[in-house]
Amino acid sequence: MSIYDTLGVIIAINAKGPATRLSGGIMRSEVSAAMVEASRHCVDIAELQAAASRIIADITGAEAGYVASGASACLLLATAACITGLDPSRMARLPDTTGLKNEVIMIRCQRNFYDHAVRAAGVTIIEVGLPDRYSGAGVRDAEDWEIEAAISERTAAIFYVADSQARPPLTDITRVAKAHGIPVIVDAAAQLPPQSNLKRFIDEGADLVAFSGGKVIGGPQASGILCGRRDLVMAAALQHLDFDIFWDMWQPPATLIDKSRMKGVPQHGIGRPCKAGKEEIVGVLTALRLFIEEGDATRHTRWKHLMDVIADGLSGINDIEITRHGFANTSDIPTLDIKLHYASANAGTLVNALQSGPIPVHVDPMFRDQNRIGINPVCLIEEHLPVVVHRIRDAIATQRG
Ligand SMILES: *Cc1c(COP(=O)(O)O)cnc(C)c1O
Repeated sequence: MSIYDTLGVIIAINAKGPATRLSGGIMRSEVSAAMVEASRHCVDIAELQAAASRIIADITGAEAGYVASGASACLLLATAACITGLDPSRMARLPDTTGLKNEVIMIRCQRNFYDHAVRAAGVTIIEVGLPDRYSGAGVRDAEDWEIEAAISERTAAIFYVADSQARPPLTDITRVAKAHGIPVIVDAAAQLPPQSNLKRFIDEGADLVAFSGGKVIGGPQASGILCGRRDLVMAAALQHLDFDIFWDMWQPPATLIDKSRMKGVPQHGIGRPCKAGKEEIVGVLTALRLFIEEGDATRHTRWKHLMDVIADGLSGINDIEITRHGFANTSDIPTLDIKLHYASANAGTLVNALQSGPIPVHVDPMFRDQNRIGINPVCLIEEHLPVVVHRIRDAIATQRG
């Protein structure tokens, strides 16, 4: 009997990809084993974060790194770090930013539900640019001169949401930001693969970059990685760690926290709700190592195989059209797009049918209004495949009547 049975919770198959709503993905056994081992001992958590910092720095090419409870948590810590610097009295005031640098500049078309994490630090988002490309009439989005015009003495940071389609390029933003001494925070939560992106945004001049640990990296669902400038990562750590300690007893690891730069021990900061336990820290570091060892090419081949087995299993069904996306380039995640052409087709009802029953199968409903469903390999394992094929065949047959 599984733990989920005892809790009365149904186990689902996730062909949608690592969505938090579906509890993320499935960790490799090496990752869960590392977490179990970590759970059996106590350590100084700052020392463990310092070790994580060295490993993340090495992998990303940044000066320092850190682990928190998700990419969103890292964005909150990053924003807080840009507001306060190393001043413990400023740290104590957040999220009240009266009199502090309390604006973050953001390209208007990059606004998204996750920017709550930035706003939670107490800043106002200053939107820049009109997404003229969206209307189809124009060709432009925000431009570097507009970003520059929005910078003031209140600007704490510029926040950039990385994506292969993002405009203007990050280097335009970092050039303007550097000229004004403003840090750039990059949300790269879902920008893996390609694994070269672990280094890319730092190379392009970002000061802090956040990645999800629970997406393609395959770490624990509640983990995220922050990397960037040593002083800013230090400011993030100072608003996240537990400092229930006397000044003279405080001996933080120097590579993470340089005590000589501090005028006092901070209080528990705004980042306290972003706690990462030793299990998450060890888990995400293990997952990161395995992610790099596997490499884009092998991972892409593994994913393509999962998609091919499903596509083959669905072949022969009349009036559906299966298109493979992302199969040619190892920087992409290979996925299937299934378009329903039969007269009674209704992708919305099909998705609902698939996710009910004793073994729910979750697919990507993004394009249901075009009668298309998506299949993503990231959270699938071999033993899921026959079930996915059987359930889709069955649901389509039922819908056709
Ligand atoms: C998934 C995602 C996040 C949140 O990441 P968590 O690790 O779940 O906190 C933030 N921003 C973007 C663009 C994302 O795709």
